Amino acid sequence: ATSSPLLAIEDLFVRYGRIAALSGVRLHVDEGEVVSIVGPNGAGKSSLLGAIAGLVQPAGGSITFAGEPITPRGLERTVRRGIALVPEGRHVFGGLSVLENLTLGATVRSDHNQVKAEIARFFDIFPILGERRNEAAGRLSGGEQQMLVIARALLAKPRLLMLDEPSLGLAPKVTDRVYELLAEIRAQGVTILVVEQNAPRALKAADRTYVLNGGRVRLAGASAALAADPDFEAAYFGLR
Ligand code: ATP
Repeated sequence: ATSSPLLAIEDLFVRYGRIAALSGVRLHVDEGEVVSIVGPNGAGKSSLLGAIAGLVQPAGGSITFAGEPITPRGLERTVRRGIALVPEGRHVFGGLSVLENLTLGATVRSDHNQVKAEIARFFDIFPILGERRNEAAGRLSGGEQQMLVIARALLAKPRLLMLDEPSLGLAPKVTDRVYELLAEIRAQGVTILVVEQNAPRALKAADRTYVLNGGRVRLAGASAALAADPDFEAAYFGLR
């Protein structure tokens, strides 16, 4: 018997007025998997994450998380359900300190000592952020801000961590660091759904990958198989 997936999406449609952002997307994510969604600008990737996060009202189809339907009721409901979204663009609260930013990620929790321990562990992994815990987060480098927003999302103790283009605008070495962090998060048992324009990076990190273009899934499968698939590029660029 196959157990049901953590996240299941059937025939999802998202529209903005007359623009169709998603047209019948079907995908699933099993517990413990790292799944990536790759595609060019405007493929519909952010709309997909927005719908899963309950921020975007679908025009049709269904999204089921841990056996329950997701309806758009705002981000807090989503976080309480166990879904954390790291949006594109590293949204730290620039005027707040590093520590305050992290603490905000844990507002849905009441196990304050455990939260403190998790923050301390994060500072062990990224000593620079520990040293700068009382500094304004807006003064951190882009890479440091990315680590911070990922850590902040994790402090909500999600079952599913979703990231929108975590490598965007980062140097390759910094991107390496971000993906090392994702590997550690995965090892802790968190399921990950990552959206990337950077297909090689996504294929390397994910167990399975969906290629999205023009609001439709053009190709899907094990990342290793897709990396070797001669149709991959055509699918990515919407030529098939
Ligand atoms: P990007 O990498 O540029 O964010 P994406 O793959 O995430 O691209 P979406 O942002 O989901 O794609 O956009 C899908 C389509 O929907 C595009 O045609 C985009 O212009 C359109 N779109 C997205 N958000 C809105 C909005 N709020 N109003 C109108 N159209 C939108």
